[in-house]
Formats: sequence, C-alpha cells, structure tokens
Amino acid sequence: MNDVKRWRELADAVKPETRLFIDGRFVDAVDGQRFTTLNPANGKPLAEMARGNEKDVDLAVRAARRAYRSGVWSRRSPRDRMGVMFRIAQLLEAHAEEFALLDCLDMGKSISELTSIDLPCSIQTFQYFAETIDKVEGVVTSTDRSALHMIVREPLGVVACVTPWNFPLMMAAWKVAPALAAGNSVVLKPAEQSPLSALLLAKIFAEAGVPDGVFNVVNGFGEDAGKALALHMDVDKIGFTGSTDVGKLMLIYAGQSNMKKVTTECGGKSPQIIMPDADFDTAVTYAVSGIFINQGEICSAASRLLVHESLHDAFVERFVAEAARYQPGDPLDPATTVGPLVTREQQQRVLNYIDIGRKEGGEVVIGGGIPTGLEAGYYVQPTLFKGVTDKMTIAREEIFGPVAAVIPFKTREEAVAIANDSCYGLTASVWTRDLNTAHGVARDLESGIVWVNCYEHGDMTQPWGGYKQSGQGRDKCFETILAHMQTKSVWINLG
Ligand code: NAD
Repeated sequence: MNDVKRWRELADAVKPETRLFIDGRFVDAVDGQRFTTLNPANGKPLAEMARGNEKDVDLAVRAARRAYRSGVWSRRSPRDRMGVMFRIAQLLEAHAEEFALLDCLDMGKSISELTSIDLPCSIQTFQYFAETIDKVEGVVTSTDRSALHMIVREPLGVVACVTPWNFPLMMAAWKVAPALAAGNSVVLKPAEQSPLSALLLAKIFAEAGVPDGVFNVVNGFGEDAGKALALHMDVDKIGFTGSTDVGKLMLIYAGQSNMKKVTTECGGKSPQIIMPDADFDTAVTYAVSGIFINQGEICSAASRLLVHESLHDAFVERFVAEAARYQPGDPLDPATTVGPLVTREQQQRVLNYIDIGRKEGGEVVIGGGIPTGLEAGYYVQPTLFKGVTDKMTIAREEIFGPVAAVIPFKTREEAVAIANDSCYGLTASVWTRDLNTAHGVARDLESGIVWVNCYEHGDMTQPWGGYKQSGQGRDKCFETILAHMQTKSVWINLG
C-alpha cells in the first residue's frame, strides 16, 4: 500500500486496545492506573494505557503458572502446538497493516520499513519456531544393558519477556515465539514507549488458539512492572532485550530472587571496516543504510565507520551524496526513510551526544541538528562526523540515533584493534575482495555477528546476539528453542 492518504485515514480511525491481557481476558490494571503513550511524529497523545505494577504482574504470573501446570499447552502434542503457531503467523499476515500502523504511530518507525522488514520478519519468526517444535530430540545414552538412560528436554515453566521499543512487534516475536514453541507460558512486558502492538498480538494469539493464561501482556514501566517480573519468585526465565545497564540489573534481580535463568540482548557500537580493496560503491551504500535504518535506533547500528586512510576523503564525499536519500519526514508516508526518534528524551540524548562530539573535536559533515519544519516531532537529522578518534565519547558510547563517525586507519591490525576496543561486541563487518583478509578479520573481530561484504543480511537460522557487554544468549536460530528448555535425565533400572 503506497498511498500516504490512505495510511493517514487509517491512522485517524485507529482505536487500539489499551488494557492488560491476563488469563485470556483484557482487564484494567488492579490499581486503575494509566499512562499516556505519545505519537513521536507530532508529540500528541495516542492512547491512555493501563499501567500494570507488581499486583498485575503477580496475577499474570499466577495465570501463566496455572496454565503451565494444567498442561493445556506445555503437554499438548507438538503437532498441535505447531498448528497454533502457524495460525499465529497467518493471522499476523492478515493483520499486517494494523500492526504496521500501530508501531508506526507508537514509535515513529517509517511505515515502509515496517511493512518490508518488521512484519515479514515477525511472521517468519513464528513460522520458524513452529517448525522447530518437533525437531527437538532427546537422547538415549550408551549405558550398561541393565539400565536405560534417557535425556529428555522439557519446557522451563513461566518465561517473562521484557522488550525494547525500537522494534516493538519484532522484538516481542523474537522473544515470545521460541518461549511458546518450547511449551512455556509467557508474560510479556513491552517497553512503555511502544505498548500498543503487543495487545493486538494477544488478540490474534487467542484467535489462533493459544489457551487462556499461556500468553499474558502486562504493560507498565520498567522500574515497577519490569522489575516486579524480574524479581518474581515464580518466573523461571527472563528473556530480555534492551540496554546494557538494564541487562545488568536483570542479572542482579535473578540473583536476588530465585536464580531464574536470564538471557540478555543488549547494546552495541558496531564497526564496519572498509579495506582499501573494498567494493567501494557497495560499501558506502551499506555504510549509509547501516546507520540510518530505523533512525539509528537499532542495536546493530553501524555507528563506527573504520575507513582505510587512502579512501577517507572519497568515502566522506560519497557518503554525503548517498545520505541525501535519508530525509526525515512523516513516518506514515511510504516515501519517508527517516522517522522521528521515539521520545523527546531520546531526541535530547542524541543531540547531547552530537554536542559532545563537537566539543571533543569532531567535525559535523552533515546533519547535527533538528530538521526544519519538523520541530513538533522528535526528529534528528541524519548526521556524520569526521575527525573522530576511537577515544572520543561518540566513538565509544551507544548513541542510539542517526549519528555515525568516520575513523581512518592505516593497517588491518589497527582496524581490528580499534573495532575490538569496545565494551560491546554485537555486530561488525569487513569489506574486502581478498579471501585471506575476509577470513582473518572475521575471526579476529570480537563480535557475535560478522558480515563480509554486506551488512544486516541474514535469516532465521542466524544466531543473533553479542560478545562482551552486548549480552548473553542468542535470539533466532535453533539453539534459542533449546535455551527455553531444560534437560532431565531419566535413568531406568532394568534389573
Ligand atoms: P531499556 O533497557 O531502557 O528498556 C528495555 C525494557 O526493559 C523495557 O521494557 C523497559 O521497561 C524495561 N526496564 C527498564 N528498566 C527496568 C528495570 N529497572 N527493571 C526491569 N525492567 C526494566 O532499553 P530501550 O531503551 O527500550 O531499548 C534500547 C536498547 O535496547 C539499546 O541499548 C539497544 O541496543 C538494545 N537492543 C538490543 C537488541 C539486541 O538484539 N541486542 C535489540 C534491540 C534493542
């Protein structure tokens, strides 16, 4: 659908669900509290959301535990569970426009990115994990004939998924699909900045046949609903995606409560290394999209562009020309490539980093401020810095906005050393035509994901997660369903 007028009409007519979803029903928060979610494109209120706290979290966890123990989902045959998960994928497809609209209005992502990336990826996530369900196998080990020893895999129980705002539906899909596929019950706590699409997800889950209590949504703030979930004594696992600071808190909460399992998918400061023999034109195109996609609000944002000194000036010139394709505008317009940032606070945070970059000696080549005419929304211009060293703040901290820094290097060893000089290690790329350089650098990079001559490529088989403080555990891929299960040894004495 390429018609901005139609998207705007749909936006005017949208009536999102605002309550919590607990035990198969939409309900108000126990204390009746609400919070306002704003449209970042214009700062106007979108909806008054039920605001859950520890009481609502407790009701949701109890419902999830009851459903788990009853076996309606956890002991249902793999084929039946697969059928439900495939129906979820079909319903996501049938409601794709509604989902795209909700995330667009709630967090400012462009409608074209939503329909071309977030929705197809979310649908594939449910299809992929549906397909994994009957591929999980146990083992009969080599024992003496007097015994039969089986190692079987069982679900964990109640899994809490705590998700960020930058890909509201897709991050929920990445967390919830493997948890459900493994037979667990789930309580989802979406980010307070983007609470809407999770409730539509709850609606289609019910329609697809997910039994009451197996999937619950508690919207609310991190420090009350999120913390209450992470500290809950009857939650078996936290699947977290968000900042490194909160990821560390999740590990602490697990230790302070019941030692629940924790996986964390956190921040990044990803480098792209452009060697002298790179396919220059393609590398520049990916350098630009790697930082400006989703307004730079992406964990894998390629915010450090390590460019061989011989290419530096030509690279900057070409980057500027390519970046002209990324113009901020109304995210409901399919022609828009850059929407607003998620909140005024996030906009100010990014502008503050730009200020720090200037003060520390970086030179703004393009952007660096708020685009004219869009002041009501939370926009920041796509920005490129040059004259940056790897010791500057903008080369070290995750900005989470459309801001890239070009850092020149002399040798391959220096490039790898700069790339690895980070507390993060989520994604990285190397651009070269030389096979030895490609393999060598790919192995030397301290990064969970390395791309060679591309960026952001992949499919559901790709383990997604980081080295170092980018987190622990992986999303997507087959090992993720196993991470939502535990192993049991059954030793049968045959006498
Ligand atoms: P955030 O850490 O502020 O919030 C994430 C979630 O945690 C939200 O639901 C929030 O309500 C909750 N939360 C916040 N404080 C909490 C607390 N004290 N206790 C319990 N829960 C709490 O992150 P964000 O700003 O929503 O998202 C941006 C971050 O997410 C970036 O750092 C980005 O790199 C990261 N991210 C990582 C990946 C990945 O796959 N590695 C993917 C997307 C986003």
